[in-house]
Amino acid sequence: MSSFAGRMKEYPNMSLDRFDRENLHARAYFLSHCHKDHMKGLKGPLLKRKLKFSLTVKLYCSFVTKELLLSNPKYAFWEDHIVALELESPTLITLIDEASGEKEELVVTLLPAGHCPGSVMFLVEGAQGTVLYTGDFRLAKGDASRIELLHSGSRVKDIKSVYLDSTFYDPRFYQIPSRETCLHAIRGLVQDWVSRSAYHTVWLNCKAAYGYEYLFTNLGDEFHTQIHVKSLDMFKKMPEILSHVTTDRATQIHACRHPKDEEFVPASRLPCGSSASDGTPLNIISIKPSTMWFGERTQRTKVIVRTGASSYRACFSFHSSYSEIKDFLSYLQPINIYPSVIPIGRTHADVTELMLMEKDIQQAQHLHKCLKIG
Ligand SMILES: [Zn+2]
Repeated sequence: MSSFAGRMKEYPNMSLDRFDRENLHARAYFLSHCHKDHMKGLKGPLLKRKLKFSLTVKLYCSFVTKELLLSNPKYAFWEDHIVALELESPTLITLIDEASGEKEELVVTLLPAGHCPGSVMFLVEGAQGTVLYTGDFRLAKGDASRIELLHSGSRVKDIKSVYLDSTFYDPRFYQIPSRETCLHAIRGLVQDWVSRSAYHTVWLNCKAAYGYEYLFTNLGDEFHTQIHVKSLDMFKKMPEILSHVTTDRATQIHACRHPKDEEFVPASRLPCGSSASDGTPLNIISIKPSTMWFGERTQRTKVIVRTGASSYRACFSFHSSYSEIKDFLSYLQPINIYPSVIPIGRTHADVTELMLMEKDIQQAQHLHKCLKIG
């Protein structure tokens, strides 16, 4: 859960992922993705009023985020103020103080964050140095080295600060199985179940948030079927997802949700009320995507855990593990690291201490490299 207050030390005239309090004075807004904890104040009356009287204030995000946001009528008032940017295409943005006319120029680049549909990181380059705001991210080991715009030529850019998704920045979360590993295991479980009969049905017990689409599209492809969801509204303009979901209940894979009961447990009925049309009871298993982590020394154990006669938990993470974050930071070698999230059960001081340790290690490694070269 992001606790980022919205402003970066280097560029306080822009606000990212927070839209209330002092962020009401921002000259430009940036939204990394459509999760509620990154949208505080975005539909607030004060901001709405500010937009009414402003000619220059814009909200920058990816094309997918724009579609997701505008699929909710509560955000419709943003329509004329949203500027969708292409991924990995540096854009010059001028921040204007509407009272004095004073200008500040920045180059902003959206980089893929691998967290949920439309999610991006913002790379900001300007007079105060190059900074990277990760939003929420799940990057695998080595991914940073493949992002061209983090480099100038063959060298990684000099990054002054990283504002970091530190959800799992804690050695307890040393490794989280890769997305591919988790998908492979879920696919196996689904295959085993749905192949038994047409009455064998799988319910994916997903929370009401974007991020599970990766699961839907891959399972849909694999089993040549569509996944039943409550509504298609939000995917209207995303054909690659839309083609994998349906509101038709006659399918063997469901990700629908009970309209009222959050703790719904299926017996022979699904949350959508569906049961077989000829009266034969359905055989349902539920699979709950959950984050599972493993320590540094523990052997990886199963990514699927059976939690009841017909219920399972399957590993699925939207955020990078501790070792993935360490890999990311040691590759970028930023001067400053600012955590945006406090891991569960930790304090701000714990995270800061870990960050400092990380920097000591990095500096030692750097020195070692320099000595070798010298
Ligand atoms: Zn998120």
